Parts: sequence; structure tokens; C-alpha cells
Amino acid sequence: EVAPAGVEPAEPSIELPVWVEKVTTGRFSGKTIIITGAGSGIGRATASRVAREGGHVIAVDISEERLADFAASLPEGNIVTVSGDITDDAAVAAIVEAAGERIDGLANIAGIMDNMTPIHEVSDDVWNRVFNINVNGTMKLMRAVVPTMLAQAQGSIVNVASEAALRGSAAGAAYTASKHAVAGLTKSSAFMYGPSGIRVNAVAPGPVITNIEARFDSELGAGRVRRAMAILPDPVEGDALAASITFLLSDDGVNVNGVILPSDGGWSAA
Ligand code: NAD
Repeated sequence: EVAPAGVEPAEPSIELPVWVEKVTTGRFSGKTIIITGAGSGIGRATASRVAREGGHVIAVDISEERLADFAASLPEGNIVTVSGDITDDAAVAAIVEAAGERIDGLANIAGIMDNMTPIHEVSDDVWNRVFNINVNGTMKLMRAVVPTMLAQAQGSIVNVASEAALRGSAAGAAYTASKHAVAGLTKSSAFMYGPSGIRVNAVAPGPVITNIEARFDSELGAGRVRRAMAILPDPVEGDALAASITFLLSDDGVNVNGVILPSDGGWSAA
């Protein structure tokens, strides 16, 4: 274990933090926001947060079952669900059509991880699948919403990258390269569209307890791993990432454009 010298690390609490659930403001009142990956994990928490803050949410996921479960979990609906694959042009067109005339925000959260495969073992199938969803899917949604945002001279796009977008990572060659590509798409678009009133940013999560990350903590022990990474002691769930994503997505991020914001408990500083 590697902890900062002279500092006694805190034990992680057993209870997961719930503070973010209690925060409700009206930052998305009157706004239409498209959120992909809304059936699970970070996407679901973000869609829930945007809806609770008054937004009209277009919730997108490839899994109809997960979307139905999510919609049923909400006390009152300001959500339209669209089940579809973000790599499919017809599905992307249906998503934009469901949004209607205005699109104030897009959160590209759907993504997959491979089996942490190094480059000499990666198959074309795995490489192409990871790139198709993480990069092409993200690009296709951006390409589809930007014309509406340009016509409005206003919009905010948040892509979910990863700690693996910032440096080499154990997360696998395809995943790491795909998330670096998401960072590139984000920076290039911020540069291109900022002068037209469209902000484009990304969030780079560290470990979050979702379907993707469940193995990590359960197999290795959350406290041990987090101390070794020299990061904040408490494991986080999707709502902590939703807080970072909605900061950039909302007008709170009014002066922030082109950043890849680590939301990782300090991992990237270590
Ligand atoms: P998750 O598996 O819990 O949720 C992802 C959702 O995306 C699922 O509901 C899935 O059905 C959907 N999805 C997958 N492919 C799709 C497609 N082609 N079209 C539409 N929907 C699709 O994962 P998560 O942990 O919430 O991850 C969300 C994002 O955060 C991903 O981009 C992931 O790479 C990134 N991320 C996660 C972690 C983590 O620790 N969980 C860390 C860094 C980055």
C-alpha cells in the first residue's frame, strides 16, 4: 500500500454518501437535455438529477428493460425514454426527433469497457466494439445535436471520458485509447464551437460503483485499493459523478469550456 508520507489514511465508511440526493435546485428548469446510458450507473444518476432539477430529459439506453425500470423509479415523469443503440444512425435520428425543437444539453455517458486486454491480445472485434460505442457513438450524438445548438447559439455538451483519458491505464488498450479519443473530440469541439455559444467539456471519473466497476471494489477491497491510490476514503456511486456532470452541463459551468474535469477523489493528482 502506498499512502502519502506522514498521513494516516481514514478508514472508508461503510455507508455510501447520500448527500447529493438531497440537493435539489432548478438549474434545468425549461431545458431539454439528452442523456445516454440513462439505464444504469452514472447515466441513470445524472438523468435522475437533471429531472429533479426541472429538466425535460430524453433518457437513452440500449436496454429497454433498464430504461423502464428507471422510469418507474421516478416519482413524477418529466422524462421521455428512447431505447436504441447510439452507434445506429436511425436510433440517433429518433433521439434527436424525440427532443423536439430545442436541445439545451447533451450528456454522452453510455460506454463500455473491454476485459482490460493489452494490445498484443486484443481482437479486432473487441477493439472495434469499444471504439464504435465509446468514440463513434459519442461523435454521432454530437454531430446530430450541434446543428440545433448552432441555430440556438447556445448549448452544453458533456462527454464522459475516464481517468484512462488522462494517462496510461490498466483498463485495457482499446478502452484507454477510446477515452483519449473522447478527450480529443471534446477539446476539438470546444475550440470549434465555443465562439458560437456552445460549450463542450468532459468529466474523467475515477472508480465509481456501477455495473462497470463492481468487480474492482468487491474483489480487491474498497479501502485497500483507495488507500493505495491515495484518494478520498469513501467509495462513490453515480450520484457523485452526476454532481460533476451537471455542474458542466448547467449554467453553473458558464465560463468553463474544453476541460477534461477529473472527478476521481484526487487520483489524477497523485
Ligand atoms: P454502466 O454499465 O453502469 O452503464 C452504462 C449504460 O450504457 C448501460 O445502461 C448500457 O446499457 C448503456 N449502453 C451501453 N452501450 C450502449 C449503446 N451502444 N447505446 C446505448 N446505450 C448503451 O456503466 P457506468 O459505470 O455508469 O459508465 C458510464 C460511463 O462512465 C462510461 O462511458 C464509462 O466508460 C465511464 N466510466 C465509468 C467508470 C466507473 O468506475 N464506473 C470510471 C471511468 C469512466
